[in-house]
Amino acid sequence: MLVIAIDGPAGSGKSTVARALAERLDLEYLDTGAMYRAITFAALRHGVDPADVEPVAALARQVDMDIGEVVMVDGVDASIEIRGPAVTQAVSLVANNPEVRTEMVSRQREWVHKRGGGVLEGRDIGTVVFPDAQLKVYLTASPEVRARRRAKEVTDLDYETVAADLVRRDTYDSQRENDPLRQADDATSLDTSNLSVEEIVDQLVAMLDQ
Ligand code: C5P
Repeated sequence: MLVIAIDGPAGSGKSTVARALAERLDLEYLDTGAMYRAITFAALRHGVDPADVEPVAALARQVDMDIGEVVMVDGVDASIEIRGPAVTQAVSLVANNPEVRTEMVSRQREWVHKRGGGVLEGRDIGTVVFPDAQLKVYLTASPEVRARRRAKEVTDLDYETVAADLVRRDTYDSQRENDPLRQADDATSLDTSNLSVEEIVDQLVAMLDQ
């Protein structure tokens, strides 16, 4: 079973790289951030306060989600809204809920076992979800590059707003109590600031072949 763990802060290139690497290796790809966003979307939709630990945990256990190009949450297409400002603002809080994390980690492992492997990207894949993955990568990029990348994706917000939001989320994600964002001791770190997607994928495939 081939499992590849890609972690790193927002805008480090994880999604693009994970998708391209999965295609190159003929594996499936899972965006675990979209799962935390899906729960946040469900909470906001049901009027549950994202800070309310128990109700959010209960929601996480119940919610039906299908994470792919299109993200379905309890039968509703949430692909656009999960990337919007309301969900982005609240998602880190939901992701610090320990019971939510337990449920998501178990769903992520199940996803991989069903498929016999895959490429997973997130914040805790190499540290918690699959510490024994064959390849563990920690992607980084300069704050300017990361903010520029995100600003391109979120066209309705200006650069300053996006940059401030990235700093806020990274600080929270790295300092939170439960499974904070950090590089696994045995993960290879790669600065993607000045590399093309193709160059990054080439380097990762070369690491796998070693
Ligand atoms: O990757 P993305 O920016 O969409 O992730 C949204 C949020 O989900 C992150 O800011 C983080 O709080 C949380 N997350 C997490 N663990 C993961 C993936 C994402 O805590 N494996």
